[in-house]
Amino acid sequence: MTQFLLPEFRSQFPILQQVINGYPLIYCDNAATTQKPIPVIQAVASQLEHCNANVHRGAHHLSANATTLYEQSRDKVAAFINAPAREQVIWTKGTTESINLLVATIGMQRISKGDEIVISVAEHHANIVPWQQLAQQCDAKLVILPVDESGRIDVEKSLPLVTEKCKFLSINHASNVLGKVNPIQSLFSKAKSVNAITVLDAAQTVAHLKIDVQSLDVDFVVFSAHKMFGPAGLGILYGRKALLDAMPPYQFGGEMIKKVSFECTQFNEIPHKFEAGTPNLTAVIAMGACIDFLSSDQYQQALQYEQDLIAYAYQKLNQVKGLRWLVTKSPDLPIFSFTLSSLHHQDLASYLDSKGIAVRSGHHCAMPLMQYLQLSGCVRVSLAPYNSYQEIDTLVQCINQFVNEDFSAAAIADAQQSEL
Ligand code: PMP
Repeated sequence: MTQFLLPEFRSQFPILQQVINGYPLIYCDNAATTQKPIPVIQAVASQLEHCNANVHRGAHHLSANATTLYEQSRDKVAAFINAPAREQVIWTKGTTESINLLVATIGMQRISKGDEIVISVAEHHANIVPWQQLAQQCDAKLVILPVDESGRIDVEKSLPLVTEKCKFLSINHASNVLGKVNPIQSLFSKAKSVNAITVLDAAQTVAHLKIDVQSLDVDFVVFSAHKMFGPAGLGILYGRKALLDAMPPYQFGGEMIKKVSFECTQFNEIPHKFEAGTPNLTAVIAMGACIDFLSSDQYQQALQYEQDLIAYAYQKLNQVKGLRWLVTKSPDLPIFSFTLSSLHHQDLASYLDSKGIAVRSGHHCAMPLMQYLQLSGCVRVSLAPYNSYQEIDTLVQCINQFVNEDFSAAAIADAQQSEL
């Protein structure tokens, strides 16, 4: 392996060269979406330029080429997550749609009155609302696992909550707010012992950790391409073959059928059974380039560097006066969520934006978690291996300026008032 060279790695992301509000862009919102490297950008352009035709309708050359590339991407994703077979990789619009697909199909098949669906308190809305709606529709119960002060699901308190009534355990691998990797194995083992279906929301981990669906021994895994340097509008649903085979289709139309008459329809095999209509073929084809990027030696080096970056950022941010972490100890992923005593999270985010620094503030699509932590919201700094130590220094310097000079909306309003 060659040694990781940050400038070389960074130069693959043209968007990072931008100047925002007169300052070089410092992009620290990677848990929301990651930026795209040149090979992915080129794959998008190349598909549109050279290979644009509908897939699986192979009457002509272009369509055959598009189909080959499209299905090659499925092979690459299957290998990337160690799926036993390529058919177990289903294209969706994103993590959100993958979960909605599960709820509408196997969820509807398996949930009835009095059953329990188990999630954690630190789920993204995408892994709450669909299950909640299913529970309401079927007179079932949503059971909520607690997190401990370290920000991980509290196994000791959670295991007794996974009972014979549990039909689904659907939890995140790591929360998009807390950045800690959950102890999923013991929870999945318990779920298996009561014959519950296990679902892993790997949206936040897939770009940072090896996801091996076979060693995880999980029934379903969901994630989004856009959080792993790939295109937006594309998600993945991995599923156990026997379960996918037994599930009804999610949507109906072209592609998902074998034979149609006005009297009845014979559905296609997996994966096509779940891929009704013309897919986002640009994104799927570009996903092949994305997987190549993530599988490269350079990216493996980048992940090692990322560990150092996490330690550096944690130690630097820790020195900010009045900064309160949401959880104890350094995060496992480069996700740093905090509040600043008496200063509003949105004011800090706006101040940082004025300095060209992109962070996120608010509830991060995890309102129940904010209620649990008794917060109205927080600031989230989320990094990727293209971030540098200097960027962390600048970020911390700007947060310190904000804290020391009090640029909060209230202070600015007070100052304006006194000028009148
Ligand atoms: N789950 C988690 C843990 C997430 O972080 C996100 C995105 N923030 C989602 C689900 C939803 O992903 P998408 O919006 O790409 O469907």
